[in-house]
Amino acid sequence: MTERAIHSDLRQISRRKFLRESGSLIGAASILVLVAPRRVRGVEADSSQVGAIILLGPPGAGKSEQGRRLNERHSIPVISTGDLLRDQVKRGTQLGLQADPYMKAGKLVPDSLMNPILEERLSQPDCERGFILDGYPRALAQAESLDSLLKKKGFPRHVILLEVPTERLLKLLSGRRVCPRCRRSYNIYFQPPKNEGLCDDDGTQLVQRPDDTEEVIQRRLETYQNETQPAIDYYSAQGRLIRIDGAQTPEKVAAEIESKLGLQ
Ligand code: ADP
Repeated sequence: MTERAIHSDLRQISRRKFLRESGSLIGAASILVLVAPRRVRGVEADSSQVGAIILLGPPGAGKSEQGRRLNERHSIPVISTGDLLRDQVKRGTQLGLQADPYMKAGKLVPDSLMNPILEERLSQPDCERGFILDGYPRALAQAESLDSLLKKKGFPRHVILLEVPTERLLKLLSGRRVCPRCRRSYNIYFQPPKNEGLCDDDGTQLVQRPDDTEEVIQRRLETYQNETQPAIDYYSAQGRLIRIDGAQTPEKVAAEIESKLGLQ
């Protein structure tokens, strides 16, 4: 093993150790054997790299639920641009103050505010092996700027589109309840928590998002049709769109995503 290869393995061990709750030395040692670096045309490729998994689909289609499952399976973070923005609003930052009126109206936050927040988040060390994007891109220009960012990083793209009929979306959105603590999402019609109003994982009181009101829902669906559809067409023309029937149970959707992604 070359010195570079050893260093690459050591980096992977510390990363995995950090990710694994047990973090035991035995676990780390067995990983050392399993993750020998692959060589592609003389260049060392990180065999644990996943790249970017891009989740597309209308509001309410279950992107955040599938993001959570992908995160558990592949140990890469979910970056939800909606959550990043809500965090800025909550902290009362300049960016948050500027983004808030757009969000309240169900409109897209301008790229001049959105892109710097996203780029900063993607430069964090936990995104080294890859990341799951929930809510980005949402317009053609965002898809194009993401493409050039991923090219720079040398990340492969996996673009997943969750398709759900509009009538069902309306129920999905108006019935959505979210855990403010762990961000887990429920639906009072299709996927209620075990105890009414409380998160299954941590017992926190579930909340309804302020933009899940009927009027704002309508606006968000229009925005999706007018602004996001061109980004979908862009990926479709590139032949990289993986279409998934998002009206199935979350388990079935997750299984279909895994089989179509073809990742180990
Ligand atoms: P949903 O997908 O259910 O509409 P999100 O949590 O993804 O909800 O987004 C909430 C709001 O945040 C959007 O309505 C929009 O105002 C803003 N937002 C999220 N992602 C983006 C983005 N990529 N570009 C511009 N605005 C965004």
